[in-house]
Amino acid sequence: MKNKFQYFNRYLLVWYKKNKRSFSWRGSRDPWKILLLETLSQQTQLERANEYYELFIDKYPNPETMARKRSRTILKDWSGLGYNNRALRLHETSKLIAKHGWIKYKQDLDSLPGVGEYTKNAVEAFAYGKRVIAVDVNIKRVLRRYHGESVDKKWIEDNLDRLIGSSDPRNWNQAIMDLSSMICSNRDPRCYLCPIENSCSKFIEIQKDVKQAPFKGSSREKRGKILKKLLNTRELDFKDIQKLTKSNQKDMLSLLYKMENDKLINVNEEKKIVILTRR
Ligand code: SF4
Repeated sequence: MKNKFQYFNRYLLVWYKKNKRSFSWRGSRDPWKILLLETLSQQTQLERANEYYELFIDKYPNPETMARKRSRTILKDWSGLGYNNRALRLHETSKLIAKHGWIKYKQDLDSLPGVGEYTKNAVEAFAYGKRVIAVDVNIKRVLRRYHGESVDKKWIEDNLDRLIGSSDPRNWNQAIMDLSSMICSNRDPRCYLCPIENSCSKFIEIQKDVKQAPFKGSSREKRGKILKKLLNTRELDFKDIQKLTKSNQKDMLSLLYKMENDKLINVNEEKKIVILTRR
C-alpha cells in the first residue's frame, strides 16, 4: 500500500471533486467572505450559517459597508443566530479593516476581535492559500480514526507537510471538512461510503473485531456494491441493481427496503429507482 498520507490525499481529493457541498463562498479568495462565513458558522451548522451568509454578503459585501452601520443594525440582521457577541466582534473587526486595510492584519489575523486560531487558519488557507490546517474537533476526529493515533496540535504541526502533501491547501481543508460532515461523522461514520476506508486504522480494526460471515454473496457485499455505485451515479434503477447484485426481484426489494430503513437510500417503487440519501 502507498504511504498512508499519500493514500489519504489521493482518494480524499478524488472523492471531494465529485461530492463536495456547493456553497457560493467556496472557491472565493476574498478574506472578508471567508471571515464572515467562519464567524457565522461558529457553533452553528454550516447549512444554517450559509443562509445568513447569503443575506450578510448581499448587504455587507465588504468590511467598509458593515463598518458604516450601527451595532444595532448588525444585531438585528444577526437575530435568530444566537451568540450575539460574535456579531459585535465582527462589527469591530470590520471597522478596523475598513480603517487600516487587510495588509495591516494579513500576518496577524488573530489580533482582530473574535478571530481565534481556527478562523485565522481558515482565512489563511482559503483566502491566501497558506499551507495551514483549520483544525477543529471534526478534522481531528477524521485524522485520529484514519491514522489510529491521538491527534493534537503538536501532531498536526509535526505532520503538516505530509498531511497537505502537494495538494492545494484550499481543496485539502475543504475536502476533509466535507468528509467529516458527510461521511466520518461523530456518531455514525459511514465507512462503507468512505473513499479512504481501505487504509483507515479504525475501519481495519473494526473489520478484525467483527466475526465475519462469509462476505462473498452476502447482503453486506451487495449493500456495499449498491452504495459505491450510487456514489457515482446518485440514482440507479431496479434492473441495474438486480444485475449488480445478481439477486431475484424479491431478494433485491427486501435488501433495498432494509437499506431505506437504515436511511441510506430512498426507494421510489413507482419509478423503480433508488436514490442515495444525502446528509
Ligand atoms: S473509514 Fe470510517 S472511520 Fe475511517 S475515515 Fe472513513 S468514515 Fe471515518
